[in-house]
Amino acid sequence: MTHPLLIIGAGLAGWQTVREFRKLDADTPITLVTADAGDFYAKPTLSNAFGQKRGPAQLVTTPAATIAQTLNVTLLSHTRVTAIDSVAKTVQTSAGVLAYRDLVLATGAQPIRVPLAGDAAEQALSVNSLDDFGVFHQRLTALGEGAPNVRIAIMGAGLIGCEFANDLAGAGYAVTVIDPADRPLAALLPPTASVQLQEALAGLSVHWHLGATVQAVNRQADALVLTLSNGQTLVADILLSAIGLRADTSLAQAAGIACERGIVVDRQLQTSAPHVWALGDSAQYASAASPGAPTGRTLPYVMPIMAAAKVLAASLHGTPASLEFAAMPVAIKTPALPIVAHPPAPGQLGQWVEQVLGEWWFASEDLPERAHGFVLTGPHTSKRMALVKQMTAVATTTT
Ligand SMILES: Cc1cc2nc3c(=O)[nH]c(=O)nc-3n(C[C@H](O)[C@H](O)[C@H](O)COP(=O)(O)OP(=O)(O)OC[C@H]3O[C@@H](n4cnc5c(N)ncnc54)[C@H](O)[C@@H]3O)c2cc1C
Repeated sequence: MTHPLLIIGAGLAGWQTVREFRKLDADTPITLVTADAGDFYAKPTLSNAFGQKRGPAQLVTTPAATIAQTLNVTLLSHTRVTAIDSVAKTVQTSAGVLAYRDLVLATGAQPIRVPLAGDAAEQALSVNSLDDFGVFHQRLTALGEGAPNVRIAIMGAGLIGCEFANDLAGAGYAVTVIDPADRPLAALLPPTASVQLQEALAGLSVHWHLGATVQAVNRQADALVLTLSNGQTLVADILLSAIGLRADTSLAQAAGIACERGIVVDRQLQTSAPHVWALGDSAQYASAASPGAPTGRTLPYVMPIMAAAKVLAASLHGTPASLEFAAMPVAIKTPALPIVAHPPAPGQLGQWVEQVLGEWWFASEDLPERAHGFVLTGPHTSKRMALVKQMTAVATTTT
């Protein structure tokens, strides 16, 4: 008896793998097991939904039953995989044991949580799924839609924190952002670009507490009192934690599959176990190796998933290809200051050089006239394709 191709996870990585595989093979049985409902939605819309007055139901683009039927998939929703036996080629789930021909791990990432003191520490919400967004949306709308007296504190001035700050401030809420760095998006942008973003969001009345962390959260009447590392306190109605994500490697690790910052996969997306594959936020791609990350990198974005799913489908179809990532800039959804960022690969030598205000290149001493990374803001974001072309040319001439 032929066992199915078994996929764990109904995020973009899981569903996109099915889509690509079905282009090559209409008949091989596929079972998709997922802890959530399995509905298809674009996760990036979670951080710009308030401005568009969209709730969780409006973010679903294809209901689970429809996509499963269209793609000829047996969907086991609200079912959690608890263990993998890669020798017996079975998984243990909350609905029993399932055998597989090949197993795809598309389990995504989990929000990083920092320990906070105080009697309301557990009130910090994270938004990394449609269900999380449902809880956040419900709490906020219960306090009053877009009400300027509703105070939202956001921990983390990274990509997700800044996007939520823009969305929620734009929707009329009183937003404060707290981050240990002295500027927003410090890991991604050169300092002068961070300043531009900080000022643009301040223009929407976003308040900044930079160079500080939240130490304690205590309840006072209906509000939360946050105590910061600099001794200041601030009062909020909602606390959103956006301090980063970590690849979910728990199942793979427990099964003895090699993991570092993510589940280690080679250029065909194969893990260290035969017939077990991984992609998406849970994977660490050998194809993204660089001098500073010689064994590969996680790439928790949409574009890498689209490229990886195509290659994985070919591998699963028995026609393996090699995954090569093109230059993939990230568009940051901060309409107060649109930003396109392509950070240099870890270990790339060089420094940020401002061409004009709104356009920065990461340039090395040996090739100063070429960008190894770039950041574009405001109207300069229109140069995105030209710079991608230039970076592709650099990659071709230097490999
Ligand atoms: C707010 C926000 C905004 C973003 N904006 C952008 C953007 O603008 N551009 C961009 O490129 N990227 C963006 N990203 C990142 C992008 O959305 C992710 O890289 C991508 O959606 C990850 O997809 P995934 O399928 O790997 O993981 P997920 O979507 O997390 O899916 C994981 C799936 O695995 C299931 N699962 C996990 N463990 C188990 C288990 N044990 N048993 C059964 N099922 C399990 C879960 O239920 C879920 O269905 C954003 C992310 C967030 C959170």
